[in-house]
Amino acid sequence: MKKKIMDKNKKTLIILITLFSIFTLLSFIIITNDFNKLEKNINNSNISNLIYKIQSKIEYNHKIALEYSSSDEVYDFVKNANEDYIYKNFREGSYTLEDLDLSYFILSDKKSNIKYSKFTKDINNTEKANFSSFIINKFKDINKINKIMIYKDEAYYISKNPIYKTDYENSSNGFVYLGSKIDTKIIEDLAQGFTNIKFISGPRINVKKINQSNNQTVSLKTKNKYNKINNLNINELSFYDYNSNILFTVKVEKEITLIDKTKINILIIFICLVLFSLISLLYFSNNYKHLLKEKEKSIYEIIENKTSEMKLQVRELEKSNENLYEIAHTDHLTQTMNRRNFFIHAQTSFNQAQKNNELLCVVMIDIDNFKIFNDKYGHNVGDKVLVLFAKNIKNNISEKTILGRLGGEEFALIIKNTSLEDAIKKAEKLKTKIEEIELEEDGKILKITASFGVSDNQNCENIDEMLQKADKLLYSAKESGRNLVRSRLNLC
Ligand code: GH3
Ligand code: MG
Ligand code: MG
Repeated sequence: MKKKIMDKNKKTLIILITLFSIFTLLSFIIITNDFNKLEKNINNSNISNLIYKIQSKIEYNHKIALEYSSSDEVYDFVKNANEDYIYKNFREGSYTLEDLDLSYFILSDKKSNIKYSKFTKDINNTEKANFSSFIINKFKDINKINKIMIYKDEAYYISKNPIYKTDYENSSNGFVYLGSKIDTKIIEDLAQGFTNIKFISGPRINVKKINQSNNQTVSLKTKNKYNKINNLNINELSFYDYNSNILFTVKVEKEITLIDKTKINILIIFICLVLFSLISLLYFSNNYKHLLKEKEKSIYEIIENKTSEMKLQVRELEKSNENLYEIAHTDHLTQTMNRRNFFIHAQTSFNQAQKNNELLCVVMIDIDNFKIFNDKYGHNVGDKVLVLFAKNIKNNISEKTILGRLGGEEFALIIKNTSLEDAIKKAEKLKTKIEEIELEEDGKILKITASFGVSDNQNCENIDEMLQKADKLLYSAKESGRNLVRSRLNLC
């Protein structure tokens, strides 16, 4: 029964744990999926933000380049007709480039001879000449350009525009090159949310094109694709012009923090829940065990009480049974065996003697003239005589000798393993002892005598025969004058 309950509890527990695990797993998948989407959306918006800012910066450079290229003063300067132009605008110590947020400003004539160049600290002093010739050589066949170029692993905005005189629109006499260096700080400012940005000249990943904007001076089309490598969202953004010519590619990296933090949090919550369930389970099972133990204890106590009660009752019953046995087998007045009990014992002793070929003697005893005690002194005195008589016989026989009251003032003895001669001797001794009894009544000393009939089992078929023989011998003793012991020996 107990085992069945335990099995049922075990089953329920296993089902609960399984359901709980499935629920947690599903929640975990749903939540992480949602966070994946969220992470992707955040990345997309960061990329849009980056593209928008790069585009604005390119447009800004382009506008400045347009301004300078359509300036008559610049036109005249390139033509060597306005020497003052530089002094007025780009003299030593002026902050024109810094104010315009530019890193370099180069003017060249039609044949790509440098007419003027100025740089900020962004471009190394030793690099200045190389930088200028790199730009002019790279873009000498293109009239106009607005893009990002890579020079010695660094990215620069570049805007090239032909220089025109307001009146002669179709006759340019040189080019304006200007732009700014895109340093790490600027990149970080431009692309919040990304931990690392690299400008690379061409796309490294074969990706699908996405139209990012239109109707702009420079069309920036991006291809992007997320690649998850070492806990990083790596995204390559390639920018194209209207004619689908690649302009540049940006490789951005972003740590996948949101999703990971969430995963850890969920994991912690999950572990806490599991621990909590385990602790509650332990607590409840312990409580249940405790309860069971207490119940068991109280049940044991009840059983123990009941058992000791029952034991007591059984003992009382045994005692009363013993009493009943005593009552049923003992003569109440003399406390010797009653007639029925005596005959049972006599029969058993006879059978035993027959079986083992042993000697057995029976002595029948009758108080002489007992009636006189009753008649002279009353029944009470008669009873006293009976009690005294029985006590006297008991005191003078061995423990093995069986004594019984056959009725009235008649008693009998069974003496085992004893010859007739010895039995007679014992009867004689008893006779003498009885003669010695003195009972004081009404100031008189009352004396008692008894007659004895002794028989042995020789030539006897059964106990009745033995008893009858003894009875006859007793009668003979009475006949012969009382206070005598009679047997077949002294009969002859
Ligand atoms: P005898 O010498 O021939 O044996 O004479 P007796 O008087 O002893 O024998 P009898 O058979 O004439 O009388 C026995 C009397 O014992 C009769 C009866 O009233 C009395 N008696 C029997 N049982 C009891 C008893 O339990 N108590 C008393 N007080 N008397 C009893
Ligand atoms: Mg008598
Ligand atoms: Mg008698």
